[in-house]
Amino acid sequence: MSVQTQIPILDLKPQVSALWPELTAAVEKVLKSTAFILGPEEQTLEKELSAHLGVKHSLGCNSGTDALFIALRALNIGPGDEVITSPFTFFATAEAISHVGATPVFVDIEEKSMNIALDQIEKAITPKTKAIIPVHIFGRPVDMDAIMTIATKHNLKVVEDCAQSFGATWKGKQTGTIGHIGCYSFFPSKNLGAYGDGGLMVTNDDELAATMKMLRVHGSRKKYYNECVGYNSRLDEMQAAILRVKLPHITKWNEARRNVAKRYNAMLANVAGVITPEVADGHVFHQYTLRVQGVDRDKLQAKLAEEGVGTMVYYPVPCHKLKLYEESHRGVVMPLSEKLASEVISLPIWPEIDEATQARVVEVLRAAL
Ligand SMILES: *Cc1c(COP(=O)(O)O)cnc(C)c1O
Repeated sequence: MSVQTQIPILDLKPQVSALWPELTAAVEKVLKSTAFILGPEEQTLEKELSAHLGVKHSLGCNSGTDALFIALRALNIGPGDEVITSPFTFFATAEAISHVGATPVFVDIEEKSMNIALDQIEKAITPKTKAIIPVHIFGRPVDMDAIMTIATKHNLKVVEDCAQSFGATWKGKQTGTIGHIGCYSFFPSKNLGAYGDGGLMVTNDDELAATMKMLRVHGSRKKYYNECVGYNSRLDEMQAAILRVKLPHITKWNEARRNVAKRYNAMLANVAGVITPEVADGHVFHQYTLRVQGVDRDKLQAKLAEEGVGTMVYYPVPCHKLKLYEESHRGVVMPLSEKLASEVISLPIWPEIDEATQARVVEVLRAAL
């Protein structure tokens, strides 16, 4: 291997360095307070998030996975119910559906947006269908007008999976605030990441908010007067304090991500065999994901790694092709998810990546094609 700088797929160091004084002060404040769970930082963060997102209720929890799971529980979705979602997502989306005992029903994706195919959702609806989980994949907003029209017509609930789309907007509205419940992840690599696990549920519905609030603390509204079997799923004070330092920067960071994507698109405009992603309105580029054609994608990835360029394949196996769902989806063909799963490759992206680093990534990619 030649000796040159390694370019990771994600570099969190510039942000930690830039915010070092504020971050350490925030952590020290929590240490001194000795309030570590659901304390003042968390309560203030929830208010700040509600104001930022334009939503009535924000509730912190342990992870994006828990947020989805608690949202489905709050909507009373369980055994015998079906939930429609995209197979081209991180497993946690489907996992949450399975965890409440319901059945995930996958609908193929659209080629351009890589999001759920809006014109195929209605065909998948049965009398058992209770909800739709649109996933704003890679930070690209799903057409929420179309989703809400279908949901209203068929009396379905909508839980938005916003794990990759903090700050993404659909017609000026924040993703997560359009459906009945929005679920976010604060996993460190997400657009708004904590320094540990964390998640968020948002809603404009008072009753749903009260139920989710109860579910995250062992099914109790009043301590030790437990009303139902809930969970222990809370956002801790360290993470809340860190997120409060980071939240005021998220809009600027997302704008920077869009500029990084535009720069890559310009650099790759005339490269044969490469399909670049569209810079759609409101897209926040959690990932910058290309499609490559006429080459072995996995070999290409290995070549890039040899040259020190980190890439990832999100996701090599669409959910309906996972062994555990094969049984329930036997014979189902989802041509676009399957095709894209073999073509996608995500390039290094973070808000502070510079043009020279991007140029190097593109140079290595072109040589490897
Ligand atoms: C990351 C992610 C999740 C899960 O979030 P965690 O905080 O890691 O539990 C769910 N859905 C999607 C699409 C994700 O990318």
